[in-house]
Amino acid sequence: MRDLLSIRETDTDQIHQVLQTAVGFNEILKRPVKKVPTLRGRSVITLFYESSTRTRTSFELAAKYMSADAVNIAVAQSSVSKGESLKDTLKTLEALTADCIVIRHPSSGAAHLAAQFTSVPVINAGDGRHEHPTQALLDALTIWQHKVVGAEDDTYPVALRPDKPFDLAHLTVAIVGDLAHSRVARSNAWCLSRLGATVRWAGPRTLLPAEAHQLPVTVCDDLESALTGADVVMVLRLQTERQESGLLPSLREYSRLWGVTHTSLRWAKPDVLVMHPGPMNRGVEISAEVADGVGGVRSTVEQQVTNGVAVRMACLYLLMGGSGE
Ligand code: ASP
Repeated sequence: MRDLLSIRETDTDQIHQVLQTAVGFNEILKRPVKKVPTLRGRSVITLFYESSTRTRTSFELAAKYMSADAVNIAVAQSSVSKGESLKDTLKTLEALTADCIVIRHPSSGAAHLAAQFTSVPVINAGDGRHEHPTQALLDALTIWQHKVVGAEDDTYPVALRPDKPFDLAHLTVAIVGDLAHSRVARSNAWCLSRLGATVRWAGPRTLLPAEAHQLPVTVCDDLESALTGADVVMVLRLQTERQESGLLPSLREYSRLWGVTHTSLRWAKPDVLVMHPGPMNRGVEISAEVADGVGGVRSTVEQQVTNGVAVRMACLYLLMGGSGE
């Protein structure tokens, strides 16, 4: 792999390689001193044209834990605000001797375009409603830990088990909510289906993208059919910042019909895993109790964040040719 731009273009072997590497890095995150010299002397630049808490910070920590220098470009204070183009910005970062560029952009396809302008490895940290590959990889790792290895939170993170392959063929994953605006849903459709899982998509008709039927997913018309017998429920944020008006009659109705609560979880398997990429709209797409794992719900929201650091370490390591054990 030269860049990581989408899961659609990432084959199953490459997905396995990232996950396997991430399991090793998870062990480092458990140590009191979370630092290895593997990327010493290298530099990672994060270029985020959209806001982010988890993704940007985890890329930065991932780089630092591997001894690379991490620099964030505050886009609002950079020459982008003077009208500098994506091409010139990328060329400048390359001239500044960056060894890897992590980009988030509101336009679908921006990461691919960026990769054409530079020979430095580019990682897509979310481009519009298109893809968010590292999110799908961290979600796959979380599902594998719980549903294949059988890790409970107190044994997390789990060690790599040769007898526990990254095979999710026995699992049904329901992805519910604002599918039209979700790059997480698209990347997960590709990633989880490549690993063998059955992927269901469900959301209001107005929030279902036209191309859903071309993706490796089964589209369900209501929450009950999506959740019935599901092993994993992935709840999506209602992305009000990307929505035109008039897509939903009211938030209250949305949460009544599509909100994941203790009541709707009764349709799923008793040991269902509840995931959310964050940030959450508590009380809208997910109830606060379910998000917090109250009443025996297996919510993985925080574990996903920690796995995000390990997965991003793995991606940087593999793309930047890290060295050492
Ligand atoms: N954090 C995720 C993303 O950037 C999900 C979200 O924003 O709802 O796509």
